[in-house]
Amino acid sequence: MTDRPPRPTRAEPREVLELKQLKADQPDLAGAVDMQLALVEIQRRVQSRVPLPWMQVDAEWLGAQLAAGRPLVRFADIPLDWTDFRLTLRQTADILRRFDALDAADYDAIVTLGREGRALQPLLEQWYTATSNPHDQKAERLPAGSPASLDQVFALALRPFLARCSEALSTRSDLSSLASADSTASSSPSASPAAAAHGHCPFCGWEPDFAVITSSAERRLICGRCSGQWPFPPLTCPFCANADRTRVTSFATRDGRYRVYACDVCRRYLKAYDSRHAPRPVMVSVDAIATLPLDAAAMQRGYAG
Ligand SMILES: [Zn+2]
Ligand SMILES: [Zn+2]
Repeated sequence: MTDRPPRPTRAEPREVLELKQLKADQPDLAGAVDMQLALVEIQRRVQSRVPLPWMQVDAEWLGAQLAAGRPLVRFADIPLDWTDFRLTLRQTADILRRFDALDAADYDAIVTLGREGRALQPLLEQWYTATSNPHDQKAERLPAGSPASLDQVFALALRPFLARCSEALSTRSDLSSLASADSTASSSPSASPAAAAHGHCPFCGWEPDFAVITSSAERRLICGRCSGQWPFPPLTCPFCANADRTRVTSFATRDGRYRVYACDVCRRYLKAYDSRHAPRPVMVSVDAIATLPLDAAAMQRGYAG
């Protein structure tokens, strides 16, 4: 009989390793890291089951949607399995509740919504349609009396499904050329109205919640809902389109890895990962937690996320 070496444990994903390292380096962030690890785990598990959708759209339609500031992913395009979505909704609510990020009343209401099922489908469709068309001010996001945290829980629970859509579309070369026309003041007539619109995600219409500075010093915004990325001028505010750089306050962490762009017109800010001298690519699940002290600094200066 020979002693077999222990079977190697399956390699943990890079973002999980990075989050654990972050917790070891900055014990103050332990609670936030643990919640993120739990969310990352369910999102990875669900996303691996969601098929890559077949999003066959022609270039003309795509260009027209972008020019009008309408999202490329319509509700019917999302490969939603309702049983799986209800489970994801409940598990997301469980995690937020466990880490005190959701109050008891909202938790109960959201879990009930997930269990009943029938009310959930039209509600999610209404919410997605209203939030994916940022220029349609009339659309009601959620009916009066909905739990205040539903917005956040819907965004997290829908992410694994929606991320597959932006993944399917982001490989299209015509999309990247149309989108990047924004940052280079192109003379193409279809690109200029799109430039104003693209403070919002071209895939799902949500707001950016992070950014990355690329090796060529361009800025790409990252959607807080579908994780899609798109290029955007480095010193223009994506929330109000203020492009006067004397009215944008920018500050970085001491190691230069992260940066905040704060707008002195609308008083909102966006964080960015500077990948120019960084040892790894941006990982929003990690970088959003690593920069919690930057959020505190920005808010102290009177800016809002
Ligand atoms: Zn998006
Ligand atoms: Zn602004």
